[in-house]
Amino acid sequence: MTRADLFRLLLIAADAPGSCFDHSEVSRWPKGALDDLLKSHLVCPAQTGLTAPCPNCDDHHIETVTVAEPADDADKPRYFICCPESLKVEVTEEMCRGWAVDLDGLAAALASALAVSAPKPVVPGRFWRLGRMPWRDTTREVAFAVRLGDDDSHALMLHVGTGGRAVVFVPHRVPDRSRWPGRAPAVIPMHAAAAMTDDDVVLDPEAVIEAVNEADRLAELGGGMSLDARGKKLVRGQLKAELKGHLTDDILVAAYQEHNSIDKAAEALSKQMETTVSRDKVWRAVKRAQEAGVLARTEDSGSVSRSVASQRRDRGKKVDQYRK
Ligand SMILES: [Zn+2]
Repeated sequence: MTRADLFRLLLIAADAPGSCFDHSEVSRWPKGALDDLLKSHLVCPAQTGLTAPCPNCDDHHIETVTVAEPADDADKPRYFICCPESLKVEVTEEMCRGWAVDLDGLAAALASALAVSAPKPVVPGRFWRLGRMPWRDTTREVAFAVRLGDDDSHALMLHVGTGGRAVVFVPHRVPDRSRWPGRAPAVIPMHAAAAMTDDDVVLDPEAVIEAVNEADRLAELGGGMSLDARGKKLVRGQLKAELKGHLTDDILVAAYQEHNSIDKAAEALSKQMETTVSRDKVWRAVKRAQEAGVLARTEDSGSVSRSVASQRRDRGKKVDQYRK
């Protein structure tokens, strides 16, 4: 077993309830790995009752340990397990110890790899907030959660906003997207994106970028992404992609929202597109958005407010009709 294998094993264990490595498992780890993992706070002594593997049987079956207290203070306690073959077997104190993944330590290592703030536990042992990470020219909220596949994970998921903009790191198991309330955030399994170097955890930036992009893409496919939720910054980034194609209503309307003026939006878009985007083109897109109920109408002089409803599907239909 290499240290890389061991790190992946720890990540799988972190997502399994009550998993604990006993003496026989730890003895198969690379030499010195346990000490290093303890030092870097990725592993800690397990809080479970004493168990030990049977030293006499080949399958090293695990049994509960009985402690025989010493007769006088000078003596040490002795440890025994029951074995179907050898009946009562004495085990060493070392064999009784178990080790678990230090989840707070793993959250801290992740925060350090992301260069974000120290993790704040929201649900101890299950959910941590890690502040915000830079994302393009904006930031995204980051969280770390374990065992999101468990039955009780809904309560944890509620700590993530429903806008689908958060980035949630998990050790290994990615819950089904449909289980998230609202739009699913980007969920990144450390198992696929993280590695251990010496005593540090590092992230593969490509894997992180890919996961966030994919989540954004799926959120958009899921429909109903409001213009406000997409944000003007995202739209600005999208503009480059649209250079070869045509200006979508989304972009025209977002530019209007950003500048709060038809004239200024047309001017800004013309500059960015290096071609003339007419005032009329922006005005028609805004009108269509208003008619579709995506953009609220306001009383004053036909201007529109920033309150946006998420009815993209309906609107899409109407826009298509309009284009025909
Ligand atoms: Zn045995």
